[in-house]
Amino acid sequence: MANLNDPALRSWIDIAPGSDFPIQNLPFGVFETDERGTRVGVAIGDYVLDLYAVSQFGFFRGLDLPTEPKVFRRRSLNRFIALGRPVWRAVRQRVSELLRHDNPELRDNEEAMRSCLVRQREVRMLRPVKPQNYTDFYSSIEHATNVGTMFRDPANALLPNWKWIPIGYHGRTSSIVVSGTDIRRPNGQRKAPDAAVPTFGPSQQLDFELEVAFVVGQGTALGDTVPVAQAEEHIFGLTLFNDWSARDLQSWEYVPLGPFLAKNFGSSISPWVVTLDALEPFRVAGPAQDPEPLPYLQLAGQHNLDLNLEVTLTPPGGAEATICRSNFKYMYWSMAQQLAHHASNGCPIEVGDLYASGTISGQRPDSYGSMLELNWRGTKPLTLPDGSQRKFLQDGDTVTMRGYCEKNGVRIGFGEVRGTVLPAAQ
Ligand code: MN
Repeated sequence: MANLNDPALRSWIDIAPGSDFPIQNLPFGVFETDERGTRVGVAIGDYVLDLYAVSQFGFFRGLDLPTEPKVFRRRSLNRFIALGRPVWRAVRQRVSELLRHDNPELRDNEEAMRSCLVRQREVRMLRPVKPQNYTDFYSSIEHATNVGTMFRDPANALLPNWKWIPIGYHGRTSSIVVSGTDIRRPNGQRKAPDAAVPTFGPSQQLDFELEVAFVVGQGTALGDTVPVAQAEEHIFGLTLFNDWSARDLQSWEYVPLGPFLAKNFGSSISPWVVTLDALEPFRVAGPAQDPEPLPYLQLAGQHNLDLNLEVTLTPPGGAEATICRSNFKYMYWSMAQQLAHHASNGCPIEVGDLYASGTISGQRPDSYGSMLELNWRGTKPLTLPDGSQRKFLQDGDTVTMRGYCEKNGVRIGFGEVRGTVLPAAQ
């Protein structure tokens, strides 16, 4: 099999320098136009390759795919993903071949090319998967330390279980939305420390959380477990993830059972799922783990990803400002460890499930992945280019997250996940 990540590969499609979607990436997503309806597509440069059209023109013939073309007309990638790793790999391989600069099959077939390629600006991107389950972890040691320092005790910022267990909680899938969907400020209970009783109303401390989520590609049956060394075989790919959070609701409700309504009013994901295969060249070792994890979580080798992340804030009518630069490589617990732990009690995982990393903070103050940390619980407000200040998000603010890996002149980008805050319901 050819190396689809080879930096020397080129496409006959013009791809602007700095594009997130060179021929080495080929992420999967679901898009819609009035003419085509709903289609599964692959991003290439400024275009989407319509996989249903590709199959209709016979370009997948001979691949011995157990695919019906219908799988490329669904409203989510779930059915496609469920066909299994050999199928995703064969399709990505074939798409790479069709787009290579020296392959005339699609390049020189004008009718097919017009049908198979659509400009990204002409499509509406949909939520790429229909998750049955969503879990949010808490796996950045910098984030957990910052939060523990602010809310509890700087000397004992990490709770005793943190370095033994990839801490997480079960979230809701019903409010997971695709990039571009507005997020309404939630109403809820909040109680100021000096107030006698709580009140109900709009959250005054709306925040974002910079996260990366992985999509499960292979499920398990009830009672099955996933050995940590095989956990990555269960992962289809990754998206950017904004876990919007209402800090005032959270600090009142989270004792003793953890996050609840402060977290599940909306979470945004980027529309393109970047495959683990495309990210292979960007593997790095994670931070040293001390104490050594229990045997079922022990895994040598490179299981983190050098994935640059940034967050911008755009006030209504104002200029976009970068407020955070972080990296997914900082994560203390790897995706493989998270998944092995998650399945260790026999609870099934399912195709399309989303497992979010937890807020990804680095060591420097400008790498903190939430406003709570960036402004250190309101003591260091952010100043935006227009001179306005923010402790938390205001109505009309837009938060945009972007991510990319880069090496040897190849940039594997994730696109973006964006959302604008709407006023709370009256
Ligand atoms: Mn979170």
